[in-house]
Amino acid sequence: MKTAKFGGSSLASAAQIRKVCDIITADTSRRLIIVSAPGKRTAQDTKVTDLLIQAAEARLTHQDGEQEMGLVEARYVEIASGLGLEQDDVDPIIADLRHRLQADTADEGLFLDTMKAAGEANSARLTAAFLRHRGVDAHYVDPGEAGMILSDEPGNARVLTQSYGRLRGLRDRAGITIFPGFFGYTEAGRLVTFPRGGSDITGAILAAAVDAELYENFTDVDSVFAASPRLIDAPAPVDEITYREMRELSYAGFSVFHDEALEPVVRAGIPVAVKNTNNPAASGTRIVTTRQVGDTPVVGIAATAGFCTVYVSRYLMNREIGFGRRLLEIFEDEAIPFEHTPSGIDNLSIIVREDFFDHAAEERVLRRIRHELDADEVSVKRGLALVMVVGEGMSHTVGLAARATAAFRQAGVNLEMMNQGSSEVSMMFGVKDHDVDDAVCSLYTEFFPSDH
Ligand code: ASP
Repeated sequence: MKTAKFGGSSLASAAQIRKVCDIITADTSRRLIIVSAPGKRTAQDTKVTDLLIQAAEARLTHQDGEQEMGLVEARYVEIASGLGLEQDDVDPIIADLRHRLQADTADEGLFLDTMKAAGEANSARLTAAFLRHRGVDAHYVDPGEAGMILSDEPGNARVLTQSYGRLRGLRDRAGITIFPGFFGYTEAGRLVTFPRGGSDITGAILAAAVDAELYENFTDVDSVFAASPRLIDAPAPVDEITYREMRELSYAGFSVFHDEALEPVVRAGIPVAVKNTNNPAASGTRIVTTRQVGDTPVVGIAATAGFCTVYVSRYLMNREIGFGRRLLEIFEDEAIPFEHTPSGIDNLSIIVREDFFDHAAEERVLRRIRHELDADEVSVKRGLALVMVVGEGMSHTVGLAARATAAFRQAGVNLEMMNQGSSEVSMMFGVKDHDVDDAVCSLYTEFFPSDH
């Protein structure tokens, strides 16, 4: 049994949904299908999820949200008529959207998540209806009924382990199951959504729960690329990549998958195939546990901005037992996650995301470090970007750091920090935000010379 997830661009129009249904029916093992909400049809278009959020926000600010919801309804009506569906298939969708818009807004989190989930719920209904229209035995399944139980964190829910056992029952359902991504229910029956982009999370959970032979993730590119096509013209395609390589690259801004989305399949050891709905014949990218490393030690290069460094120094820090723990405890108390901790003999830097470290947090943390740890020097540098060079072959290839730093020198990029993770599957460089594009381009030219 294969589990296939289709992203928003694959559900954006009737023409796209026809392609999706062709793909589903082309392989009888594709029996569990996860769909996103209709995405953008053109670069200027608005995703249905964003329209739903606008409608919800209108209601939360005491407007009626009718205009925004009208746009959502129009999208579904247009798709349904393009698919040649009957009024009987459209009426329940319109009724569902109306019902959600009129829901009680007293619990804002619940209301917002109920609205956001309408995108996926109704695109799954439409897809199932269209498959039935074509004579295929397809069924919409509600995540609550199927057993998708999530933590009570609106907009940021996580799957609870008991879900896996319950969702396993999906294996035994007849025909093709069309499952909406992005949402589930708490134990108490409250609707909650994953973070944005969370249909990928649903797909991976279901693949793990039913022990799928393959988790196919259909999107709108032929494969994962070795670097961002925004920066590199026609970057090298990646045929095969390991989970940990993908994790490192996703961390550093590869937008192929939601960060959390691989965890369930990694734990279950289920291979993933990234494929293109618009070109299903292309072989795509396979994400696997292990792979043969060929001549190229580097698989990809990625970068992400928005970090800052909190630098702390104290003479004889290395001799002082508990200094590091007490320093990190301050971040823990302030609920600021730390990302990396490069260190010297008498100094430690804590790298955090700027999103978690506004100026008020900075003032509190710095005051506490000075008082509680009696540090000699404490300072903060903002505007740091992290650049990652990733590849399983890196651990046994000599001279990669030299090549990377030579590339930076040539491009005039100043290095703020270097860190080779203990896994040796990646090297990380800290550079100033404004140098980040040059840093990526220079590394790409160095490690993928023939493709440039
Ligand atoms: N529709 C949701 C979003 O736009 C979830 C998803 O597409 O994965 O974030």
